Amino acid sequence: MPRRFGPYGGAFVPETLVPALSELEREWRAARRDPTFRAELRRLSRTLAGRPTPLYFARRLTERARGAQIWLKREDLVHGGAHKFNNALGQGLLAKRMGKPRLIAETGAGQHGVATAMIGAALGLETEVYMGEVDMERQRPNVLRMELLGAKVRPVTSGQRTLKDAINAALRDWISSVRTTHYLLGSAVGPHPFPSIVAEFQSVIGREIAVQSRAAFGRLPDLAVACVGGGSNAIGTFHPLRRTEVEFLGVEAGGARLRGAGAASLSHGRPGILHGAYSYVLQDREGQISETESISAGLDYAGVGPEHAWLKDSGRARYIAVHDDDALRAFHWLARDEGILPALEPAHALFAAVAEARRRPPHQRIVVTLSGRGDKDLEVVGRAARR
Ligand SMILES: *Cc1c(COP(=O)(O)O)cnc(C)c1O
Repeated sequence: MPRRFGPYGGAFVPETLVPALSELEREWRAARRDPTFRAELRRLSRTLAGRPTPLYFARRLTERARGAQIWLKREDLVHGGAHKFNNALGQGLLAKRMGKPRLIAETGAGQHGVATAMIGAALGLETEVYMGEVDMERQRPNVLRMELLGAKVRPVTSGQRTLKDAINAALRDWISSVRTTHYLLGSAVGPHPFPSIVAEFQSVIGREIAVQSRAAFGRLPDLAVACVGGGSNAIGTFHPLRRTEVEFLGVEAGGARLRGAGAASLSHGRPGILHGAYSYVLQDREGQISETESISAGLDYAGVGPEHAWLKDSGRARYIAVHDDDALRAFHWLARDEGILPALEPAHALFAAVAEARRRPPHQRIVVTLSGRGDKDLEVVGRAARR
């Protein structure tokens, strides 16, 4: 498992966290070779998470685009309504194996907090989730969900009061609680070994895409599209396919049109250190982390996982930014064409996929990772429609 992806990655953390990260890496290496651990992960993936998720041909969305076929990898059907549970399940089992009775997590949209609360309950682990006050306000149903699942939600009142600040708070907690606590980081970000661990637990997405596209149309897709916040659903899609001919398109949040960089760290940021890793970061000239802005809380993050930074620099993947209003358009397309309410995060990817499909011939196949369902966003979408 690499500590670096090209020049990116690493572990820039306070001294006190070094032993915890080493312990985590050690346990992880042992667990992935342990048939009992793997069997338990497989069993719960099937019986609790609901895997495998289907690969769905979006016939009417394809007719709208009048080009390449669009297929959806249905991570919105995973327990809890998003891909987040793939990672929470894996890390929850790791925490249990390490004998840690307490989980902490950060959450932006609330999806990762919900996933952590679910696995905490299922495995009998005490769970606390840090969440920025601004996010608590805009994703209220998920706050209630976490509380009903038995987790404590800790409001974060510092900084911009969103995801970045919640990660800071969780890291601060972990520094003083490493002996009893596993920090269940929710995306492919942070210090080594987190980006690699999260990528591996999410890689079930890309592995299933490979098997299911061969079964459905006899080969791998021409293009895989996924939205990028911290980058976990995208890396789970791309990583297992990296040694194939499949093209990759990562889609970041462009925020409101004509207003700054949104949250598009790969498209508009430059290399720097955030949350213990060297990667692309949205920052000002002095290196202060920029304020980010997006209609989707789950993409509203100034950094991005280091593996994506390297996929970008090496040319293996392309990254673009899609604005709020285009994501909203794609939300309504999927609702009306296919009867599926997508989360606003993958709605960014859907918009990009339809644009790509328009430019490609009908024999091409595009797979879009539908990372989550839209229930949590109904209020935001409704408010936008009334404007
Ligand atoms: C959290 C979230 C994202 C963004 O996180 P990644 O780590 O980039 O995948 C995307 N979609 C949904 C539905 C989410 O909940």
